[in-house]
Amino acid sequence: MDSKCKNILQTLLSTSIQWDCPLSAHTSFGIGGPVEALVKVMNVDELMQVMEFVSEHKISWRVIGRGTNILVNDKGFNGLALVLAGDFKDYSFDEYGETTDVKVGAGAALSRLSSLCIERGLAGIEFAMGIPGTVGGAVLMNAGAWGGAIADILQGVELVSAGNIREYTREEVQFGYRSFNVAGDTQFIVTSAVFRLSKADPQRLRQISMEYQHKRKKSQPPGRGCAGSIFKNPEGASAGRLIEECGLKGEKIGDAEVSTQHANFIVNKGQATAEDVLQLMEKIQEEVHRKHGVLLEPEVHVW
Ligand SMILES: Cc1cc2nc3c(=O)[nH]c(=O)nc-3n(C[C@H](O)[C@H](O)[C@H](O)COP(=O)(O)OP(=O)(O)OC[C@H]3O[C@@H](n4cnc5c(N)ncnc54)[C@H](O)[C@@H]3O)c2cc1C
Repeated sequence: MDSKCKNILQTLLSTSIQWDCPLSAHTSFGIGGPVEALVKVMNVDELMQVMEFVSEHKISWRVIGRGTNILVNDKGFNGLALVLAGDFKDYSFDEYGETTDVKVGAGAALSRLSSLCIERGLAGIEFAMGIPGTVGGAVLMNAGAWGGAIADILQGVELVSAGNIREYTREEVQFGYRSFNVAGDTQFIVTSAVFRLSKADPQRLRQISMEYQHKRKKSQPPGRGCAGSIFKNPEGASAGRLIEECGLKGEKIGDAEVSTQHANFIVNKGQATAEDVLQLMEKIQEEVHRKHGVLLEPEVHVW
């Protein structure tokens, strides 16, 4: 972007743009080169103006939530990384008899939302306790755990794409295993979601969520320095088990290590680069393919 473009972009926003911002500070992996501009948008008006600007000037853009499921390459990203803040963290509850619709902004933290719902005696989103990341990232990934997933509770979603803002019902969107799509749209921003939850005893929900968190603590490394599951589970199998059976726990390239706690996690032991992680992923894929004849598909999004 030339300096004129940079100045215009800044005038559209109520917060300061971070230029050449290292994305390592915005990803749970702690890995990633700089993005040309890290842009915090506080409301739909700002977002629509930024989208008009990027489309007019043909500037590349991406959305970053909490960066808990992305691996950013070492050279970084030339363009804009959009962060949804301000109004995009709001939520409201609408009760309809035995069910309640929770409308929540895409920038809100998923785990915090889950905890709020549990305290209000709303069931359906307990699976999300402990999944780091935003609501927008969770919709895009169809995040899930313990047999539950976003697709089970999503009632509707609001998206911004090609300069338009539109609400979609659950029937109009497609979910897959850790994926979400809208026909005809390849790049869009989730701005809010509506989750339909049912009434339940808060004490019981608290107990279930504590069990989930206990299991998580026992089986996974803590969130810093990793990006959750690196590979999707193949049909009927566990990626972690397949990797472990290849004897790859503890395998290292540079400072990237296959977690000794959970083989489907790669951990940044300090100064790992994206290249280290990518090489380790390739090694895992080769070994698993050789031993089990299965090609593991990455779950983590590589930028
Ligand atoms: C310790 C740990 C445990 C985890 N456990 C689980 C688990 O149990 N289950 C699970 O499913 N995942 C898990 N994850 C992965 C991750 O937390 C989830 O996928 C989460 O939903 C990602 O949210 P995020 O805001 O961090 O998204 P990011 O990582 O920032 O982004 C992920 C993708 O979504 C896109 N995106 C983000 N926000 C938006 C938006 N508003 N609109 C459009 N696109 C958007 C990004 O461009 C990117 O392509 C775990 C991760 C860690 C580090």
